[in-house]
Amino acid sequence: MRILVVEDDAALNAQLKSALEDAGYVVDAATDGEEGHFLGDTEPYDCIILDIGLPVMDGISVLQRWREDGRKMPVLILTARDRWSDKVSGIDAGADDYVTKPFHVEEVLARVRALIRRAAGHATSEIRCGPLTIDTKASKAVVDGITLKLTSHEFRLLSYLGHHLGEVISRTELVEHLYDQDFDRDSNTIEVFVGRLRRKIGHDVIETVRGLGYRMTAPDEKAG
Ligand code: CA
Repeated sequence: MRILVVEDDAALNAQLKSALEDAGYVVDAATDGEEGHFLGDTEPYDCIILDIGLPVMDGISVLQRWREDGRKMPVLILTARDRWSDKVSGIDAGADDYVTKPFHVEEVLARVRALIRRAAGHATSEIRCGPLTIDTKASKAVVDGITLKLTSHEFRLLSYLGHHLGEVISRTELVEHLYDQDFDRDSNTIEVFVGRLRRKIGHDVIETVRGLGYRMTAPDEKAG
């Protein structure tokens, strides 16, 4: 899962980035509205954290432009205390949720998890697929009652497929959602990671759809 943080307060931006990375996300960061707007317009994020008070272009305008251009990614806005009108304008502009500053970073993490989950159509923080359970809250995966030892990259891959259960996901889409903007992207490496994940899971839950990509399905739910 790939996240964009748009926040001009450098310390806060760094704090959010590092907390999100610790939680297993890949994070890009922008410090003004114009750069943030550009990234959100050109890169596929699973969630965006957007400050309202930003230099160059304010957060409300950034959000309005994304929505006018049909960008549907979940957006969590950060609003200043005592600025209730920011919440109203933000939600009217297309925000999915808000957090008021100052906040506990855990609250932001919980809201991000919920937004990603809802965007993918999951009601709870656990995703089940046959013998496999992905716990998005604890960032872990359990197979037959045993927690898998996964690298953060492997967990991101598994989590992305799990959030899109039953859908065919192309290698390109995986690369776009698993690496940040500076990464030298090579979709062949995805195959290597899928191979490792399959060995660790030990059950046939990740299917290769020839020429198209991968699909996660429970072994007993496979069509035909
Ligand atoms: Ca600000």
